[in-house]
Amino acid sequence: MLTIYNSMTRQKEVFKPLHENMVGMYVCGPTVYGDGHLGHARPAITFDIVYRYLTHLGYKVRYVRNITDVGHLEHDADEGEDKIAKKARLEQLEPMEVVQYYMGRYHKAMEALNVLPPSIEPHASGHIIEQIEYIKKILDAGYAYESEGSVYFDVPKFNKDYGYGKLSGRNIDELLATTRELDGQSEKHNPADFALWKKAAPEHIMHWPSPWSEGFPGWHLECSTMSEKYLGETFDIHGGGMDLKFPHHECEIAQSVAHSGHPAVHYWMHNNMITINGKKMGKSLGNFITLDEFFTGSHKLLEQAYSPMTIRFFILQAHYRGTVDFSNEALKSAETALGRMLDGYRRLQELKPSDTSTVDVSTLEQRAYEAMDDDLNTPVLIGVLFDAVRIINQVKDHTATATQADIDFLRRFMDTFLVEILGIRVDDSGETGDSLKPYREAVNLLLEIRANAKKNKDWTTSDLIRDRLAAIGFSVKDTKDGVEWSV
Ligand code: ZN
Repeated sequence: MLTIYNSMTRQKEVFKPLHENMVGMYVCGPTVYGDGHLGHARPAITFDIVYRYLTHLGYKVRYVRNITDVGHLEHDADEGEDKIAKKARLEQLEPMEVVQYYMGRYHKAMEALNVLPPSIEPHASGHIIEQIEYIKKILDAGYAYESEGSVYFDVPKFNKDYGYGKLSGRNIDELLATTRELDGQSEKHNPADFALWKKAAPEHIMHWPSPWSEGFPGWHLECSTMSEKYLGETFDIHGGGMDLKFPHHECEIAQSVAHSGHPAVHYWMHNNMITINGKKMGKSLGNFITLDEFFTGSHKLLEQAYSPMTIRFFILQAHYRGTVDFSNEALKSAETALGRMLDGYRRLQELKPSDTSTVDVSTLEQRAYEAMDDDLNTPVLIGVLFDAVRIINQVKDHTATATQADIDFLRRFMDTFLVEILGIRVDDSGETGDSLKPYREAVNLLLEIRANAKKNKDWTTSDLIRDRLAAIGFSVKDTKDGVEWSV
């Protein structure tokens, strides 16, 4: 029985979908105005695991992950310049050129990380009409007000009727005390109120007509609107990074309750954050490493390149609610561990059966399911997979024997939990680059021996090495500058 931790009730709950065999899941996606970084990789991988596991359990999952392409402002989500409009201004591009470019790069990075695409990936800018209709309903219900062409959500009124801040555990009195004063801006009745619609300043390049002004929607609104449109007024899972709990998810909750009279979400799930060498990631701290920089090793903090599968494996070695700290040491040890896992997978394909068995594979599957059912405990699952690798290595090294049934089971087991559920790529398409390093070095070693043999005029040995490598599939060419080889 799958249990997941519900951030709203702060406890693990048995997962019961609203509709039999159908699960609706909404995850807050990226604001696409720059290259994807590790902060993007973690929620994507976390909810990819949720998606994969629920699918494995037989649910039909409708997974919606949005693209924020308008309305995400620089300060407090509510003030300052639109992040995409700013980039467009600086680069002299159309805002949608910025969106298209970075969305393409985001998708490429997600594919490299073997993150499955969601079922629907709606854009905020493609749902302006729906957002306007949504605002009208909140206005009709009395939880919003118009002010100078903008529309704001009335937080104190909502708090009085329903309570505001339950997810993040903030109480509104404290909130009102700590929210900075609105210096000279009297549009909002209360500093805690947030924008549903903003009147566009003359220099603002992204704007649409509305009953209130030529303007644009507030950032929090798109998620309430698009989740309702594609998943209904109530749906199963809403996910995102912990940093989105406040204000973004609190605002989403307030909007959907004001709009429909009841909460929309059954299970709130939040992944924890990533730090780099113990520090928060940030452009000003100089430790803001993009995914591409990880894949190529081109950032000054990186001692080498790390393959996308190393990054994925590293993230999965921690439980999604635990913190993850990136360092070169930690990544290198993840790379080594992944290499060991992939070697085990490869060796499994070469195992020869015996008539009798001295290995015990009977508990592996149950332990694997128990790990995943316990709030998607991937580190425990990885431990179980390493137990399987240990068995594989014993059989391969002839310190144990396994029957054909054992071997068939192990192959099914690894294909299900390593490949299908954890989403680790096991084919050597170059993705797992560095796990092939020992093999490349072994070939180089053979060629070094061959070069020595040639020097000593030992033609038998030198020809034997060349011919045997050729038979395996390596082509070896002698050139002026030495030896070249390829597969
Ligand atoms: Zn959202």
